[in-house]
Amino acid sequence: MDSYSKSVQELVSDFQTSVETGLTEQESINRLNKYGANLIQKTSHRSGFQVFLEQFKNLLVILLIFAAALSFFLQSYRDGVILLLIVFFNALVGFYQDWKSENILASLKSLIIEKCCVLRSGNKIEIPSSALVPGDVVFLYEGDGVPADIRLIDSSGLSANEFILTGESQPREKSHQTIQTTGLSISEQDNCVFMGTSIAKGEAKGIVISTGMKTELGKIAAASLTIDTGLTPLQRELNSVGKKITYITLLLAAILFAGRLLYGEHYESAIMFAIGVAAAMVPEGLPAQISVSLALGVARLAKNNAIVKNLSSVETLGAATVIASDKTGTITKNEMTIIHCHFNGNDYTITGIGYEPKGQILDIDGNVIEKNNLGDDKVFFLDGFLASTGKANPPDKYHPDWYPIGDPTECAFTPLIMKGGYSSDVIEKEYPKVQSFPFDSFRKRISIIREHKGKYISFVKGSIESILEKADKIMLHGKVKNLTQQERENYLNISKVQASNAHRIIATAYRDLPLKKEPYTIQDAEEHLIFAGFVTMIDPPHEEVRQAIQTAYEAGMKIIMITGDNEITAKAIANLTGICNEDGNLPDLISENELKKMSNDQLNASFGKRSLIFSRVSPDEKLRIVSLLKEKGEIVAVTGDGVNDTLSLKRSDIGVAMGKHGSKVAQEAANMVLLDDNFSTIVLAIKEGRTIYINLKKIVLANLIGNTAELTCILIGFAGAFMGYPLVLMPVHILLIDLIGNMLPLLMVTFDPTEKDVMKQAPRKLGEMLNRRSLFVIIYSGIFKGLFSFAAYFQSYNHHLGDAFRHEKAVTVTMISLIVCQFVNIFSIRTSKSIFTGYFFSNKNLFLGVGLSTVFMLIVSYTFALNVLLHTGPLSAIDWLYILTGALVYLFFLEGMKVFSTRRSLMLKSKKMKTSSNAES
Ligand code: ADP
Ligand code: MG
Repeated sequence: MDSYSKSVQELVSDFQTSVETGLTEQESINRLNKYGANLIQKTSHRSGFQVFLEQFKNLLVILLIFAAALSFFLQSYRDGVILLLIVFFNALVGFYQDWKSENILASLKSLIIEKCCVLRSGNKIEIPSSALVPGDVVFLYEGDGVPADIRLIDSSGLSANEFILTGESQPREKSHQTIQTTGLSISEQDNCVFMGTSIAKGEAKGIVISTGMKTELGKIAAASLTIDTGLTPLQRELNSVGKKITYITLLLAAILFAGRLLYGEHYESAIMFAIGVAAAMVPEGLPAQISVSLALGVARLAKNNAIVKNLSSVETLGAATVIASDKTGTITKNEMTIIHCHFNGNDYTITGIGYEPKGQILDIDGNVIEKNNLGDDKVFFLDGFLASTGKANPPDKYHPDWYPIGDPTECAFTPLIMKGGYSSDVIEKEYPKVQSFPFDSFRKRISIIREHKGKYISFVKGSIESILEKADKIMLHGKVKNLTQQERENYLNISKVQASNAHRIIATAYRDLPLKKEPYTIQDAEEHLIFAGFVTMIDPPHEEVRQAIQTAYEAGMKIIMITGDNEITAKAIANLTGICNEDGNLPDLISENELKKMSNDQLNASFGKRSLIFSRVSPDEKLRIVSLLKEKGEIVAVTGDGVNDTLSLKRSDIGVAMGKHGSKVAQEAANMVLLDDNFSTIVLAIKEGRTIYINLKKIVLANLIGNTAELTCILIGFAGAFMGYPLVLMPVHILLIDLIGNMLPLLMVTFDPTEKDVMKQAPRKLGEMLNRRSLFVIIYSGIFKGLFSFAAYFQSYNHHLGDAFRHEKAVTVTMISLIVCQFVNIFSIRTSKSIFTGYFFSNKNLFLGVGLSTVFMLIVSYTFALNVLLHTGPLSAIDWLYILTGALVYLFFLEGMKVFSTRRSLMLKSKKMKTSSNAES
């Protein structure tokens, strides 16, 4: 019989567990040994062999195989075998790169440790989801990921996103009622939730029925773990360039083939020539190099605590122009400690920091207050705790210190009451929970209805405005009286003073409820409240944030703080962290009320300055802000942690979710997850993103320059053929150049460190890699490189007059010249400044790559066996002289062009500035 049609008693006996206390620690260990860890084994969606085969889906490779076939047909077996070997080797390198990038990406997802909340030996604790076993009793809350297949035994207002399993995009409502029918499909089992799905709303308790590969998700194998490796904008841009190149290549090859035939050449060598041209033009190594360097970039980001979920975000990241960040938990640490209380007309100071209940409660005269001398104030004292779902827990197997389960704003109340001498467990038993209305950022309140000595009480807490709005009475000196307008304003004022120190204020209230048969409504729970008072929490900013904000400004980015907190706290935090306008003044602040009245045009106009603060913002207004920024053409990075933030995260260019405290739902909607929940990590990631993009650009340009040079060489050679010169390069050599001269050194360029001033430049525009300026660079660097190499060929060919291997030697000279010039080119293109700076030595890997390539180059030229196989020859001293002179001249040429173009762009800039200042005056 299926679990969904069983009663709770049946389930409990089936799984040998207890609804009240869960499994014992020992039993859970036994079961873990028996059933194994609750993990989905990753099965790659492509097998290694498939990846290998895909390397042959490439125009160049097809051409080469064709050339090999032709060689066999013409009975030049040696050439045929060589071509095939090279094709194979090329595929091997491509395979290695592809495989590597796929594995890097696959390993990253597991860095986000999934946790869940379970009942073990009667305690509600947090454990890594992998330690979950069948029979465990788990708690699920809004935004959580479902950690296993679970039969619900209790629930309130629960709905789950099951898209991943059922394809249904709307959340499905769930309840814990036993279902009588049998033979239901997954999508109909409404009293079960499944691994890999997430909780959209509400909360629940349930029994784990299967874990790991036994779950529904496990059965359909790892759907959730495939990382989106969709093409990035850059890859798309390059693909379309690639297509164009292919057509031009085919056309050119055909024309040249016909030309040589007309000239009276044998068709065999004419075909080889045409294939050589094609090989020269197709940037065959590029796609693999791009995915490897993106993947390596992703790995580097991960080291900096930023997990990027798709490759295209890496590219977008570097182009970000606006960071729209929330405050709590991103700019601040979200480690809440209550330091002050005001209630029943009295003030108290609380000592001790963090979730550990070590500290004292002192009254205004410095007397230590305990539960025994709290008197009437007791009701407030417990109120906040009783209006919380989150709780601080003592250290356990998985946590060395006291730790929060749930929202830190809620967990802060556990140490508070414990410092007053209460036991949180005892209180929870004395006030059993009946019903709850979870916190959301629209109401900015939470209410929990509990039973106490036969009475029902609703405990409410939230932002002070939201509580005062719903309160009409107040508890003052042990008596409940009407709350006057004057008192309301007084309380708002007192709390404002507190908030101006960057503190968070949470007000508490309660209400006695009449006994009722049917469930209470939210109106029952949250209207006509009795105001109890408020607590003050500190939430210090992350230490690194100040510096990060400075860096972001220098990098030409705007910073917008969007917080649900009140304006005074928001301003105080801005002040503490250096969020300010160009003139050093605090940014403008727009509250939700003002925001609602503003038209889109008015809002747009306020985006002019480099910073802006929005306070008390609800999620739909946040979405509006993000949408407007995007319409303005900004590239927006948005942070968010709750279920309500999903839309903003999706709408943004880069959605950033929190790895520690953020909900699973937000993590799924985001492109990037911060493992340390720290604003400064976003800035670091943007810096990484810029570096990755710059390095990619170097790789792309160097590749295309290399191809242009090869083509130039061949075309001049074509003209040379009319004067009796043999082929400058054969297809094999073109491949060798790419394998030796490009593959390794360009891979190493990926490791180029960030140049000092990357974060001092304005953000680049998206999709600008192959702009006119880069095309210009490609053409002049490529053509000159080709010219120098042909010159070396020409010199060498004439020099070795009478030598039996005259042609082989000259071809080798061309090849090596192209490779050496490519080295020069790579070193020069690495920096927009002069090559003769410290940056030259900054990448040891590159020297290693170039060194190895040089060794290969020498082997190809100086080993007899390879000479025979590859039609190469040993170079003489004079050949090296030609090559090195050419390379040196090429170097000065490239550096000269750099100086020239920087001067020019500076001149253009100052001209522009002059004209604009003229226009102004
Ligand atoms: P932010 O995280 O930017 O402060 P939120 O939307 O999370 O924004 O919170 C808005 C306000 O709601 C907070 O300033 C606080 O006053 C109140 N609040 C936040 N969390 C809770 C909670 N768990 N219980 C009660 N009130 C809360
Ligand atoms: Mg929050």
